[in-house]
Amino acid sequence: MRISLRFVFATMLGLLLASGQVWSAAAKEQKNEYPNATRKEPKLDMSSGNQKDLNKALELVNNNQYDEAMPLLQKVLDDSKASKYARALALEAKAQAESGKQDDASAVKDFRAAYDLDALPFPRWDLIGQKRARQVGGKLLVRPIGGAFPVLASRGCPEFCTYCPHRILAGHRERSVASIIEELEYLCDSHPNPYVIFRDPLFTQDRARCFALADEIVARGLKLRFECETRLDRLDESLLRSLHRAGLRAMSFGVESLDPATLKKAGRRPIPPEHQRAILSFCRSLGIKTAAFYVFGFLQDSWDSIAQTIDYAIQLGSTFAQFKILTPYPGTPLWKQMSHLVYEKNWEEFDGFTPTFSHPNLTTREMKFLLGAAYARFYVRPTFVANLLGIQSAPIRQVLRKLDTRVFAHQSQREIEAVSRAVSC
Ligand code: SF4
Repeated sequence: MRISLRFVFATMLGLLLASGQVWSAAAKEQKNEYPNATRKEPKLDMSSGNQKDLNKALELVNNNQYDEAMPLLQKVLDDSKASKYARALALEAKAQAESGKQDDASAVKDFRAAYDLDALPFPRWDLIGQKRARQVGGKLLVRPIGGAFPVLASRGCPEFCTYCPHRILAGHRERSVASIIEELEYLCDSHPNPYVIFRDPLFTQDRARCFALADEIVARGLKLRFECETRLDRLDESLLRSLHRAGLRAMSFGVESLDPATLKKAGRRPIPPEHQRAILSFCRSLGIKTAAFYVFGFLQDSWDSIAQTIDYAIQLGSTFAQFKILTPYPGTPLWKQMSHLVYEKNWEEFDGFTPTFSHPNLTTREMKFLLGAAYARFYVRPTFVANLLGIQSAPIRQVLRKLDTRVFAHQSQREIEAVSRAVSC
């Protein structure tokens, strides 16, 4: 197990070294016309019904009249007919008003600008110099050594997974295609052939917008490569082809658990395995690297259900996989549901890899063991290397799968020695 973990840590360190950096922000003012990229508007109709309440509430918050604003904001939030944009803005204004009531009133001044993402300035990409990032490692490394550019095309997530901090931090809203293109063009001008990491939690939420973005990147001849995070049910072959043509080279997505009932309990809409396999297969054919996320320790989980999820992760054949332990973050619906089970008092341990609560079916030691075993089984096997190198040849893969079986038998033996039980696949 020690050797396996060392291998995993070395792999993760390599990925980290190759990952992007975050830089500071400042203003940039420049507007261009983009024939294929039309700005979405209006985002908010302030003329009628609850929009008037919202408009009035925003004014009150701007004037630091939080107590007067609160009932109006709550009215908008309680109205089932309110648009998603109105609700997002009301939620954000409410959070700003609550924080403004507690301490610094200046913190609430610009929340309207933070809602309209197009109104925000671009990061000061010019401050990071002209040194070109180097692509080394051939097919082994996706991201270039020396830096990638993190870009946000949207914020928040419209889904309802109860364990996820994204959904409670900010309402979901998108930048216009024109605004994103403007920033990408600026990046391409200042740093040739940039590698962009779209940090949106759900990049392909709006299919038409993604097509428009991809078309515009191609139409303007922007030379860049990029990766994104999304849900697999927000992808299809036609969209993938279009994004790949524009520069998509890697993507990550959540699978979380194999069991649909477990996912539904956590507010997550399950995605049929056949669709997951079809998308992954198409990504492989295009040469797009994939990283799948999995979570262990849902209350319905058991040793066997986690073993099945590990098995599925291997069968699905993503290039990389990340396994984490369910963590009830304060503020999430999961926290409300599980706070009585949480024993960990040190917030630094809420890192996604450390058990923090008493599980009904698994001990802390078992959870940690299953996490280590998942990494060992996923990364220490010949077909992982084949996936990394993009080897598709059927005869070669057949031989490698046989070798996998031998490796798994060896791993089972070591698991039995360690905890008297194998993570059977
Ligand atoms: S889809 Fe992903 S980002 Fe969105 S709420 Fe679920 S876990 Fe969070």
